[in-house]
Amino acid sequence: MSHLLPVVVATPAYAGLGAALTYEHPEVLAPGTLVRVPLGKREVLGVVWDGAPLDTGADLATRPITEVFTPLAPLPASWRQLVGFAGRYYQRSLGEVALAALPPQLRELNGVQLARRLKRQPGPATAHTPPPVPELSPEQTEVMVRLHTARQPVLLFGSTGSGKTEVYLRSVQRLLDADPQAQALIMVPEINLTPQLEERFGERFGADGVVAMHSGMTPPQRLASWLAAHSGAARIVLGTRMAVLASLPHLRLIVVDEEHDPSYKSQEGARYSARDLAVYLAKQVNDSHPTPDGEASHCRVLLGSATPSLESWHASETGRYLRLAMPSRIGGGSLPRLRLVDMNHQPRKTLLAQPLLDAITERIGRGEQSLLLLNRRGYAPVLACHDCGWKSECAHCSAHRVFHKIDRTLRCHHCGFTERVPRACPACGNLDIAPLGRGTEQIEEHIIERLAGVLRPDGQPAQVARMDADSTRLKGSLEQHLARMHSGEVDVLVGTQMVAKGHDFRRITLVASVNADAALFASDCRAPERLFALLMQAAGRAGRDASLGTGSEMWVQTGYPQHPLFAALRQHDYPAFAAQELKDREAAAMPPFAFQALVRAEARSQETAQGFLNEAAALATELPGADQVTVFPAVPMTIQRVANVERAQMLLESPTRVALQRFLAAWQPVLLDTRQGPAGKGLIRWAIDVDPLNL
Ligand code: ADP
Ligand code: ZN
Ligand code: ZN
Repeated sequence: MSHLLPVVVATPAYAGLGAALTYEHPEVLAPGTLVRVPLGKREVLGVVWDGAPLDTGADLATRPITEVFTPLAPLPASWRQLVGFAGRYYQRSLGEVALAALPPQLRELNGVQLARRLKRQPGPATAHTPPPVPELSPEQTEVMVRLHTARQPVLLFGSTGSGKTEVYLRSVQRLLDADPQAQALIMVPEINLTPQLEERFGERFGADGVVAMHSGMTPPQRLASWLAAHSGAARIVLGTRMAVLASLPHLRLIVVDEEHDPSYKSQEGARYSARDLAVYLAKQVNDSHPTPDGEASHCRVLLGSATPSLESWHASETGRYLRLAMPSRIGGGSLPRLRLVDMNHQPRKTLLAQPLLDAITERIGRGEQSLLLLNRRGYAPVLACHDCGWKSECAHCSAHRVFHKIDRTLRCHHCGFTERVPRACPACGNLDIAPLGRGTEQIEEHIIERLAGVLRPDGQPAQVARMDADSTRLKGSLEQHLARMHSGEVDVLVGTQMVAKGHDFRRITLVASVNADAALFASDCRAPERLFALLMQAAGRAGRDASLGTGSEMWVQTGYPQHPLFAALRQHDYPAFAAQELKDREAAAMPPFAFQALVRAEARSQETAQGFLNEAAALATELPGADQVTVFPAVPMTIQRVANVERAQMLLESPTRVALQRFLAAWQPVLLDTRQGPAGKGLIRWAIDVDPLNL
């Protein structure tokens, strides 16, 4: 006798939502069991799913499951619910989301190979002597007490340096002490923050039960971490957004650090928000483990930030989240004073104003560090000819190629197209082509020049370093940069926003934003929120060590010193800033007061891309939810062409999430049909982005 079982396999995007395939097997297998099954001529990894198998009809022969991964426990119900939800909510196929959530190497192994991997798992934990833990500050103590009884998601609104990480550590400690099996998931927005986190958690809990999960790991490392988490051997998982999709059968605590960070939103495949999924996941765990006392097995979710996203802030205003504040810095370190440099009063083409240079020089003399922030890597964003107006445009994108002086190249940051810098203007032959605007390389070069002769207290010349995607590309170079910064070898660090986030550099007493003005007037409604968060974060790198005195400063060079954003920044007053932004958002019916989705389309021509979207929209007017959804006409994307592909997008907006979801679910098949029809001819791809962050 054989049983029919629903099995989810990697189906291409939009190949019908929620569909599991039907296979047969002599025994019933529990939902979540990993199997290998035939698919066409191949054999692929699959997951036995919940519910009844699809009726394939009596005469249609179903194929048998080839292999069952018996040594592995089934994937937990909370994981299956999370994956199912993510597929539905972000409008992708269940199979795509489920299989993408598994470590890639698992797809290539058969049962024998997997059994061998499992044997290689580390043995029992070695003894670990925890270091002495600091006594909690009054604010931390209060937060720990209130966390204990909180039932809703908690927004930990703590200044930079207020000791949020210590609260995470203590929460994990309390959990591990109370429950011999419980697991904790700690997420950070960027890979470059994971080494520091691993160190702090490893030091506190021993390296044995702690694993990392991020895309910088090799496939075997990822598989090992995944297996450790899935088997319960790893009690603590540290990772980037992908870690939210790990299998954690005893998950009882999720921390989303720097919860406002846009990196939590995936920009490919299922464009999920790991923060939002974390909140959903905790709820699923709690719904599937109801306990009478509610205490021991309750799964908590803790979102931490000094500058919360407006979505989370709003939720904490309405009481959906519990807001716990830690306004003070540990050790009484003060937040830096804001110094605005009005660039209108500086000589033209000033890169770094003299008073700023003086302040940096003074700090070098005292053995303190400075951090200079710029949002663009490379030497200059454009190379231009002043005679004929030629600019270093990319031949394949509607964007300029960036001048990298280090290797004298013009590189497109969108498609990667790279050429050597021409000797003369390619259009008119003029020899005098010049860089326009500035990037990190140029600031680095400039400051090295201006600091010539400046000495450190040890009599050595001042050291300048640069940290951006270019300087940290080689394996290990990021760690090297961080180590040089921590050891005090570097006096001035120039970098992109990569350096502004999260790092606990002890000796920085000056942070400067060299040119933030572009973000003040960007068309994206989230630009001010991001700039404010970035500047607050950057300011948070300064003055972390109270013993260095209270003279820490945040410098901003701007042509618009009167801008209201700076007034809030001066007071370090995030609540005031958020209140104003939320008022504007409400008036403009923008998120979190409305719900959005974007449909993007790519084709060789802009007409094809827009035509597809407009045609699909024309067929959608009668769909469920349509009366509550505004569908805007298709427009070109901000960067309209990348690698010779034209890109268009269409915005959808609704006052209710439910209506938008109902509409999208109904529209999905229409989009698929349109793709197959005449309007889909020449279309390369299309995708839906729910709750998009970039419009
Ligand atoms: P945040 O995550 O809020 O930026 P951290 O947790 O990194 O802050 O804390 C900032 C610094 O203060 C760290 O060096 C940390 O070790 C230290 N610290 C945190 N809590 C305490 C405490 N209760 N007593 C002493 N030092 C602390
Ligand atoms: Zn020219
Ligand atoms: Zn390009």
